[in-house]
Amino acid sequence: MPKTVWVDEDLCISCGLCVNNLPDVFRFNNDGKAECYDPSGAPEDAIQNDAIDACPVSCIHWKD
Ligand code: SF4
Repeated sequence: MPKTVWVDEDLCISCGLCVNNLPDVFRFNNDGKAECYDPSGAPEDAIQNDAIDACPVSCIHWKD
């Protein structure tokens, strides 16, 4: 079972980086904020490197 990842929508600035880097994992919701809709859409290291570490406001997190 893949680890789940979530976006703190209060902090997301809708820059689009995570959505562009990993479109099979993240998308914009109706509020224009990023959300994770499929945590199995990319390997964990890609999520770590291309989303969690790359987010300019560090609002993407692993959920235990
Ligand atoms: S990279 Fe961060 S700030 Fe940018 S859209 Fe994704 S969650 Fe939001």
